[in-house]
Amino acid sequence: MKKSMFFGALLAAALPLSGTNAEAAPCLKVTLTGTQGGPPVFQGQAGSGTLVEYGEEENNCGDVKLQFDTGRGTTQRLSQAKVPVGKLNAIFFTHLHSDHSEGLADMLQIRWHFNSGGPKVDLVCSEDVTSPAGHTMSCEKFAQHIGDPLIKSGEMAQRLLENKKRLAGGPAELVNLMTFAATDEPAVVWSKDDVSVSAIRSTHIAGHASYRVDTPAGSVVIGGDAGNDTRKPPRVTSTSAQVEKLAQGADIIVHSTIHPVMGPDKESGFPPPVYFRQSTAKDLGAMAERAGAKHLVYTHLIPPMGAAKQGPFPIPGGALTEDDYKNSAVEGGFTGNIVVGTDLTTVQLP
Ligand SMILES: [Zn+2]
Repeated sequence: MKKSMFFGALLAAALPLSGTNAEAAPCLKVTLTGTQGGPPVFQGQAGSGTLVEYGEEENNCGDVKLQFDTGRGTTQRLSQAKVPVGKLNAIFFTHLHSDHSEGLADMLQIRWHFNSGGPKVDLVCSEDVTSPAGHTMSCEKFAQHIGDPLIKSGEMAQRLLENKKRLAGGPAELVNLMTFAATDEPAVVWSKDDVSVSAIRSTHIAGHASYRVDTPAGSVVIGGDAGNDTRKPPRVTSTSAQVEKLAQGADIIVHSTIHPVMGPDKESGFPPPVYFRQSTAKDLGAMAERAGAKHLVYTHLIPPMGAAKQGPFPIPGGALTEDDYKNSAVEGGFTGNIVVGTDLTTVQLP
């Protein structure tokens, strides 16, 4: 008894010293799980998505795992990042375009196979929003019907016979839906311990939202496909005023981008309304500088680096390089670290 008390006192005395080194230092890790811009495919790039992890360095920053958008191939990229889909705490949608959402069915199906016992995964997204044209964008319906083809085909019934512990209602039963009404002011939509996620309304299609993750190790903004509320020129910038508000003082901005080479003044034939609803690489450089960001991460590149075409649309002057994107950010006035994203690109803080 005496001996162990002695050692206990020794240990306590040693703690402040070793504490500076060995004490768990929190870190924030941002990994691009897919960088393809829009529905086309190019050289196996995965569809749009960003993994944000926060935690202790000893745990590879992985105590909390958040996935923003789930384009095609997200499950594969997560496996390369050594993050099993079953370990995600929450999934967030910026909007319901397939290039940002179609991976979810696959992700939930694998969870249903192997994690039917739970926990459920939080799916955080905008409440139903009806566009001026009259159609309603519904994350709730998307989630409710995520397993429908597998139920309708009879696969679910067949697999339930093999393993009765699986949820009878299919993968939709594994979703804990958390919808919010996005406004022009940031509002917290999800939190866990030291991690909080805020959302703001942004313009691209009805129901689009942008996010910011704040942690003790730093902050990251996920802009999604946000563009300016004024949908075409004349306007001051192509970037979103709401995203700029959300990004004030953020360490990292991850944002979809389009290169001005696809503009209607060039010869690509790319549809002007589709061009104008994205933020240009140059304007994002200017916005990131105004916001005071340290890192600007381009993702969802239109066109992809090295591609001769964006879908059916040829790139005027030929394929773009990494420098073409970097130069645009510099031209916009950005003085921080520019990252031109490829699948599995990672930025870690501190
Ligand atoms: Zn997109």
